[in-house]
This record gives sequence, C-alpha cells and structure tokens, in this order.
Amino acid sequence: MAVSKNHSAEAVAELLAAGHRHFGENRVQEAERKYPELKRVYPDLRLHLIGPLQSNKVRQAVAFFDVIETLDRPKLARALAVEMKSSGRHLPCLIEINIGSEPQKAGIAPNEAAEFLALCRDLGLRVEGLMCIPPHDQDPVPHFLALADLAQRLGLSRLSMGMSNDFKHAIACGATEVRIGSAIFGSRA
Ligand SMILES: *Cc1c(COP(=O)(O)O)cnc(C)c1O
Repeated sequence: MAVSKNHSAEAVAELLAAGHRHFGENRVQEAERKYPELKRVYPDLRLHLIGPLQSNKVRQAVAFFDVIETLDRPKLARALAVEMKSSGRHLPCLIEINIGSEPQKAGIAPNEAAEFLALCRDLGLRVEGLMCIPPHDQDPVPHFLALADLAQRLGLSRLSMGMSNDFKHAIACGATEVRIGSAIFGSRA
C-alpha cells in the first residue's frame, strides 16, 4: 500500500499509471480532497484508512474508503456497524492493536483483542485482520512476531504491519500488507 498523506494527487496519479492500486490515507478530509477524480478514472483503486477515525467522521469514511484499518475502540465499532448497515457498504476492517502497550497510543491492548473481536463480530462487522504501529524507538521484530501470533490465535488472515524503515522485517514476520510512504513518495513536507 502506498501511503500518500501530504503528497499530491499528481504524485498518486503517477503510481496509478504505473499499475499501483492500493493507497493509504490518514485523514478523511485529505482523502476527500485528493481522490474523487482519481477514483473516477481508476474504479479499481482501493483506498485504506490508516489514521485515527473520529466518530463524527464515520459516515464520510464509510462512503469514501474501501478498507478501515484503525478499528480501535468499542464506540467506533458501534458507530461503524450502524453506518455500514444503513449504507449497505460492509467494508473489511482491521483491528488496530497497541502492540507495544504504549499509554499514549491508540489501539486495543493485546490481551483484550479476543473480547473486542467478539464484540465486533456481534455487531456484524467484517473483521479480516490486525494492524499495528510498533514503538518507534524499539526493535520492531518482536512486535511484528507478537502481532502475527495474535492474529493466528484469533483466526485472522490479514496483517498490516511494516512501514518504509522496517517493511522487510515485517514481511519476514508474515505481513500481508505493508504501508509505505516516504520510500515511495519521498520525505513529507
Ligand atoms: C505515515 C504512515 C505510514 C507510512 O510511513 P513511512 O515511514 O513514510 O513509510 C504507515 N502507516 C501509518 C499508520 C502512517 O501514519
């Protein structure tokens, strides 16, 4: 997945012309500004939401994105379930796991993941995998291995982990999608 936050629609168009189809954005509004025309020209473009989702943006997010990777709290799960039912857009979701148990970081604690997954399933959400952002000042490998182990125990097949600096390790640990920003687009302003 090419992460296009802070980069222009023109930069994204170059990748689309080269055959790339999966893109990630952190903010609903930035995606809504950048992508409408690109989605029209490339109907098979798939846009992943990889940033925090506020409850008041759920309607726009479900209408505009194709995958929600940051399902990270019960309130959001409930809001997404209501919106997906009423819109008929049952998007695949990934649960964001706070794999390093960092107090300031979003995500479900690893030991609460099973319970949260059960809640999401009860609500009718299509949960297909897990996503994480490991602590930036630590070796990511133990965290990637922990996420892969958790996904296997939960019976989930999709693993979104790895960014520009660590994607090779993530792939070796079983990532099924890596989220690459600066290594594709260059550094962000
Ligand atoms: C920005 C971002 C990325 C891409 O980061 P790079 O280091 O530029 O590859 C990946 N995942 C998330 C959640 C991001 O916010």
